[in-house]
Amino acid sequence: MKLSQRITNITGGGSDGWDVFYKARRMIAKGVDVTELTIGEHDIRTDPVILAAMDQSARGGHTGYAMVPGTQEMREAVAARLTERTGVPTSYENILITPGGQSALFAAHVATCSPGDRALYIDPYYATYPGTIRGVGAEPVPIRTHAANAFKPKAEEIAVEATKGAASLLVNTPNNPTGTVYGRDTLNGIAQVCKEHDLWLISDEVYDTQVWEGEHISPRSLPDMAERTLVVGSMSKSHAMTGSRIGWIAAPKEVITHLINLATHTTYGVPGFIQDAAVFALAQGEELEAEIAAPFERRRDIAKDILANQNTVGLVPAQGAMYIMLDVRATGLSGEAFANSLLDTHNIATMPGESFGHSAHGHIRVAMTVDDKRFKSALQTLVDHAEHLAA
Ligand code: PMP
Repeated sequence: MKLSQRITNITGGGSDGWDVFYKARRMIAKGVDVTELTIGEHDIRTDPVILAAMDQSARGGHTGYAMVPGTQEMREAVAARLTERTGVPTSYENILITPGGQSALFAAHVATCSPGDRALYIDPYYATYPGTIRGVGAEPVPIRTHAANAFKPKAEEIAVEATKGAASLLVNTPNNPTGTVYGRDTLNGIAQVCKEHDLWLISDEVYDTQVWEGEHISPRSLPDMAERTLVVGSMSKSHAMTGSRIGWIAAPKEVITHLINLATHTTYGVPGFIQDAAVFALAQGEELEAEIAAPFERRRDIAKDILANQNTVGLVPAQGAMYIMLDVRATGLSGEAFANSLLDTHNIATMPGESFGHSAHGHIRVAMTVDDKRFKSALQTLVDHAEHLAA
């Protein structure tokens, strides 16, 4: 039987650069003690107080169908958070609650791209981006960035592709995989291109609570951008709730009305007890979020200290998120070859920069997701290994 082109085309064919990751998983299954610095999963679990709220809600009977757009309480909690943190007046009618940021990314592209439309995104990128775009039948168009500019996009380079016609542009700050945070100039440039070329902006802000330097600026807050921006948010990273699958889209009311139709025909909403737990979690405010984010800033500083004492491995300036991007070009190896050799010789698993597109070749991404002591030792071993290769 023939499957649809849309579903068979999602991965786009070819190698996706995840071989090192799968190799590490096979080693772990065989009992090897691998230090996993690969995916963006906290080394802590969801806080017990959030679980207690979930339990109370479920036992209280909130286990039936929840309202498809999200519960009133959850939509209002997210709206209040965005109003307070971005200054953009936001009501519950601007919010759709989704099962995680990933489904929000998919829904946002369904809402903005027709089949065959070109959808722009910034390279290096979070691994699912091109597949998400292909999944809605649109054509993924990467915009290359440069290590020398900390992988921040340049407006004129986005404009080159926008001029050829495109429906949307997807950006992500704080950024996975690079850890960079876009400043006001970068975002103003992006906003300008969107307005000049009539692009929808899809702004993935799932790392908005993890900023170590500068500030998180939501491009939705820039002049005349709220009407063309869809913000993707999530509780996965901010509240260590990856497995709860809860996130949102903030967008103009008309967009949300259509997205509710999509949700009715796809997810049919998010479990009520998860939403109640999320409302509770959001009500804990920035203190809990800061506590959950703190280890990544601490480990970024550990990495900075270790890297300050050598000249072989370069650190892309990392101002946020749970990753650092390291330049290993001085070893003469590609990111993939370096990651493989580090895994083979020292049982340390990292992600090749090539897993995230073409711009980050010769780099590796290190997820700062093991305890400080283990992180420090792994990073020192990584540097020693690079120096050995370079010598
Ligand atoms: N966007 C980015 C940039 C991510 O790194 C992730 C998860 N790693 C997501 C979206 C999706 O996260 P979730 O579906 O868990 O909310």
